[in-house]
Amino acid sequence: MKRASLNTPNDWLSWAEDRSIPEPNSGCHLWLCAVRGKKGRGRRAADPRPMACVGGRSGSAFRLLWEGVHGPIPEGMVLCHTCDNSLCINLAHGFLGTQKENMQDCAKKKRQWLQSASSFEVPSAKFTPELLEYVRAVYTPRHPEFGSKALAKKLGMSRNAISMAINGHTYNRTGGAQ
Ligand SMILES: [Zn+2]
Repeated sequence: MKRASLNTPNDWLSWAEDRSIPEPNSGCHLWLCAVRGKKGRGRRAADPRPMACVGGRSGSAFRLLWEGVHGPIPEGMVLCHTCDNSLCINLAHGFLGTQKENMQDCAKKKRQWLQSASSFEVPSAKFTPELLEYVRAVYTPRHPEFGSKALAKKLGMSRNAISMAINGHTYNRTGGAQ
């Protein structure tokens, strides 16, 4: 990827916009570029996190973006998500908390996620090229959150449509963006 020169918050915001897709229901901005996660089985990480290398720094894309816009994160503070989506880089979904708060928050979010997963749907969803990219990027076989069954549920699509997307059919053949 082209080395970007990011000097102002606006530079950072357009950098992030080029690399993410807005998810209309949750308002999350899903990261489309490199991800890295805790060790998982198979070729995908079990818990993918947006990663970026920019301006000589590399690490969490969400954290880099946050610091680019809001300035350095104070020592002892961690960047938390108000949403449950580990791939979300929407700054409006981020807040600074202490490590302890983050852990408490995570436990709470996890419970909420389990409760809300069944109601999280995209009506009449069709594959746009971006959505196709997203599904291919996060798909992890048999993963409780990123397996084909979970993705189908999350995106309100048939499992068959998800499988077709993963297996390389183009978006035109699966219903298509118009
Ligand atoms: Zn979000």
